[in-house]
Amino acid sequence: MTADRPGRWRRGTGHAAVLVAAALVVAVTPASAAPPGHLPGANGGGTPGAAGIGDPLFPDEGNGGFDVTHYDLAMRYRPDDRTVTARATVSARATQSLSRFDLDFDGNTVTGLTVDGRAAGYRRDGDELVVTPARSLHRGHRFRVTVDYRADPAATHHCAPPNSPITSGWLPTSDGFVTAGQPSCARSVFPGSDHPSDKAGYTFRVTAPDGLTAVANGVPAGRHEHGGETTWTYQQRVPMATELVQVAVGHYTVQTAPGPDHTTIRNVVPTSMAGTLGNDLAVTGPQLAWMRQQAGSYPFATYGVLAAPANFRFALECQTLTLTSAGMFGALPQSYWSPVLAHELAHQWYGDSVAPARWADVWLNEGHASYYEASWADREGYASFVDRMHTAYTKGDTWRSQYGPIAQPSAANLFNDNVYDGGALVLYALREKVGAARFTAIERAWAARYAGGTGSTRQFIALASSVAHRDLHGFLTAWLYGTHTPPMPGHPDWTTDPVG
Ligand SMILES: [Zn+2]
Repeated sequence: MTADRPGRWRRGTGHAAVLVAAALVVAVTPASAAPPGHLPGANGGGTPGAAGIGDPLFPDEGNGGFDVTHYDLAMRYRPDDRTVTARATVSARATQSLSRFDLDFDGNTVTGLTVDGRAAGYRRDGDELVVTPARSLHRGHRFRVTVDYRADPAATHHCAPPNSPITSGWLPTSDGFVTAGQPSCARSVFPGSDHPSDKAGYTFRVTAPDGLTAVANGVPAGRHEHGGETTWTYQQRVPMATELVQVAVGHYTVQTAPGPDHTTIRNVVPTSMAGTLGNDLAVTGPQLAWMRQQAGSYPFATYGVLAAPANFRFALECQTLTLTSAGMFGALPQSYWSPVLAHELAHQWYGDSVAPARWADVWLNEGHASYYEASWADREGYASFVDRMHTAYTKGDTWRSQYGPIAQPSAANLFNDNVYDGGALVLYALREKVGAARFTAIERAWAARYAGGTGSTRQFIALASSVAHRDLHGFLTAWLYGTHTPPMPGHPDWTTDPVG
């Protein structure tokens, strides 16, 4: 994600105010009231699954006792009242014998729930949907939970940690909606195991009246017209974290072109802006070709940018389909948005294909993305990479004091400057330590070794040491966990500002 953090939208532009002035006023309505909980059914053994997956920063994220393998998300958008009726089918495998289990689900109105086709008990407990199947589920059993619900994309949600630019997974647009789940708001869009360590495959079936276009992550898998409506199906076969789900409905034009590695470039733009945005987004192909030189083959079948007609002030690396505000392109110069697009593209390798094992590892997402964002800006002549690293170095001790070490962020300020440019600075220090060729080898090995899964800080340190043929544990541990900024290799003259 790139977001409206201090210094970011300000940097090198005088246009941020334009975007504020142009911001849409979105009507906010109260969250739908949940129906009273249903009584649990009969049972026979097993124990309750844990409410969370065990992430110290977000104890209730994800769920214990099962592993989600696939989501089938069917949504039907009604323009007359701007609501969505949905059925989520969650396929999972029990990792313990379960008397009951939780799904993460925030808000919305549940209208029905079954487990393996049988009515099951359920109740709402904050953002946990507690499910009691009619019979307990044995360890290893593959089961299917179907949840019917109604959603109002304009409703208020309570899924986000403090200081997050994203406060609901739904973002209403002028003619439909888009979704943005990072880090913990996918649960406001669909029930599931909302932690990046529980990846799954996805099928999306989105129905909208004729004239509107629906898009989602992954590749198209059919379009069916019926009675004035069209159902658009998409498949995301490469496992994906919940936070990276994108489902969008609106008046869009889908622009496709062949990309490198047999990929398809797919940019999705408001039809009314198709000409200008199509020109701006022509940068996607060159960026994709450049990024694969840094990180190795692109990990998915398709990539593109969804420019949504709503003026939110962040961009998000939804898997295969980066979400941006269409307003960003007109309001800010190319020297701003082109590096932002490079940032979100880099996330496809670092953050999406290789997701963080725990949220404290988020520097592996944002540090890498910021590193390549700054590299692209330097390559295009917008801003000096080394100057940006030098600036980050001077702020190093201040950031560590303010936000904690780079690999120890707090839940209250997860997406902080130290995770972004501080994380990029760690990678620069590593490059200065091992040399550019070894550094590129590490970057590619990391993206290849953990493709489709998750990676932790500990695993990154081990892999870097292995690829560089030297023990980097002490070096990287000081950079990632130290309370003071270590000396920068190759720059003995660099100093940090005193902590004020
Ligand atoms: Zn990012």
